[in-house]
Amino acid sequence: MREIVLASDLDNTLIGVPGIIFLMDELDRRGCRMSWVYLTGRHHFSAMQAVLENFLAMPAAMGCDVGSTIYWEGSVRPDPGWSRRLARFWRGGDVLQVARRIEGLHSLHSPNPFRVTGKFDASVTNAGRIEDALGAAGLAAKVVLSNGDCLDLIPAKAGKGPALKYICATAGLGERMVVVAGDSENDADLFDGTWPGIVVGNAVPALKSARLPSNIYRAGAPGPKGVLEGLLKMVG
Ligand SMILES: [Mg+2]
Repeated sequence: MREIVLASDLDNTLIGVPGIIFLMDELDRRGCRMSWVYLTGRHHFSAMQAVLENFLAMPAAMGCDVGSTIYWEGSVRPDPGWSRRLARFWRGGDVLQVARRIEGLHSLHSPNPFRVTGKFDASVTNAGRIEDALGAAGLAAKVVLSNGDCLDLIPAKAGKGPALKYICATAGLGERMVVVAGDSENDADLFDGTWPGIVVGNAVPALKSARLPSNIYRAGAPGPKGVLEGLLKMVG
């Protein structure tokens, strides 16, 4: 069997739902050669904490902050090539200032140079309106709305999918089988058909009901058990 690179979201996909130990044991028992990439909305420190507290495998790389920072195994410094790529057209300070004036957004702050995060009120605004308001100020940002009220504004070239493409190209993962997994809207750009994927059974309704490419498997089981279900479907 080819080595599998499981490129997965953390919260509500690998952790926060029971089954991670079962998943790791089953993969071991079946002799699967695995390497791991995590793509998460968490910042690097919080993601590492989650890895350690949940006994997850050490990842070859992590795309943190919704794919606006990339960290390689053993490094606490974001990948400078990725950061330079995002910095070219990004005016984070201006995005934060303009976002503070957009109706329906609140609790806004900027935890790193490439991300404005906060909450949104779905009864007042939506992604199109937020993009329009930023566009009217001459600013481009990718608007990621997830889990009912979570907002992220990141550079147009950022996101979990673009971060994974950069990781695969930089680490030369072309020979290996990359499989993606996730549960929420901020995982959607992993499911563009580039890689076979698994939507776990506890995914948010918006992702569950989304039209997805034919190489995306919708698991019945939640969390890690859904990931295992999908992997076994794909590789036997
Ligand atoms: Mg998640």
